Amino acid sequence: RMFNELQELKGNIRVYCRIRPFLPGQVAKQTAVEYIGENGELAVVNPSKQVKDRRRNFKFNKVFGPDSTQEEVYSDTQPLIRSVLDGYSVCIFAYGQTGSGKTYTMTGPNGASEEDWGVNYRALNDLFQISQSRRGSFQLRDSGSDVQTNGLAVPDASMHPVTSTSDVVELMDIGLKNRAVGATSMNERSSRSHSVVSIHVRGKDLPSGAALHGNLHLVDLAGSERVDRSEATGDRLREAQHINKSLSALGDVIFALAQKEFSRGQAKTLMFVQLNPDATSYSETTSTLKFAERVS
Ligand code: ADP
Ligand code: MG
Repeated sequence: RMFNELQELKGNIRVYCRIRPFLPGQVAKQTAVEYIGENGELAVVNPSKQVKDRRRNFKFNKVFGPDSTQEEVYSDTQPLIRSVLDGYSVCIFAYGQTGSGKTYTMTGPNGASEEDWGVNYRALNDLFQISQSRRGSFQLRDSGSDVQTNGLAVPDASMHPVTSTSDVVELMDIGLKNRAVGATSMNERSSRSHSVVSIHVRGKDLPSGAALHGNLHLVDLAGSERVDRSEATGDRLREAQHINKSLSALGDVIFALAQKEFSRGQAKTLMFVQLNPDATSYSETTSTLKFAERVS
């Protein structure tokens, strides 16, 4: 069902693929990603030599290799952020298996310096800066729970008025900490929950007096790996069912946005498809890519 919904939206979603580098201490063995082209081409190769057709080609709007910087990734994202101040609803997702770099792309590494900032911080900075440079009158607020205006019901979301990037950074840090609460391991928690920041922009174009209403949704999705239900029992099984259900909410979110906003031509969506380069991730990598291929 999710795939059908997504297919209806084909063409409305830009898809960028990003391959994270091998990490320090991780032995750079075989990689499943063999070729990265300049125009969004990507080839993955099945590490098993027994398989006949080992190579599979994909094409996205853009592919960022392991050496790409946060700045490079953002420079291709920035035009979307400008659209928010032109009254668009912009939704940026990161999708991929746990450990593939979703949080790195969206937020940055733990305790990131400005150079390592992810899309979230850079986007917020730009929102405030562009709005100031246009000298309109803007009010920005984080309002993830505002069902009326954005059509998305985000459980446990709270709404806060903000006037600067640092206000929002503070809120996002609180959000990240909340995400970690109640879990034995922070990594476990973040791999099994979505993180959503919604910025609502209310403004007025001063020369014309026209009202401006844009939204920016920044979504760091739960790990895309499905929990194997066959071996789970009791609490683990209930958790697995919950996780799998929550993952399929991705389709619902995109669908809700589509119905409400795409029809008016007022929405733009970007999905970052994150990949772990290691050959041992080959099967998750191909299922991630196949999913992404249906959307783009
Ligand atoms: P996810 O959120 O998908 O589970 P993370 O963003 O936490 O994955 O990334 C897993 C690890 O890889 C982290 O230690 C992160 O800092 C590192 N990492 C991810 N992407 C990059 C990158 N492009 N460059 C350097 N390190 C990265
Ligand atoms: Mg993460």
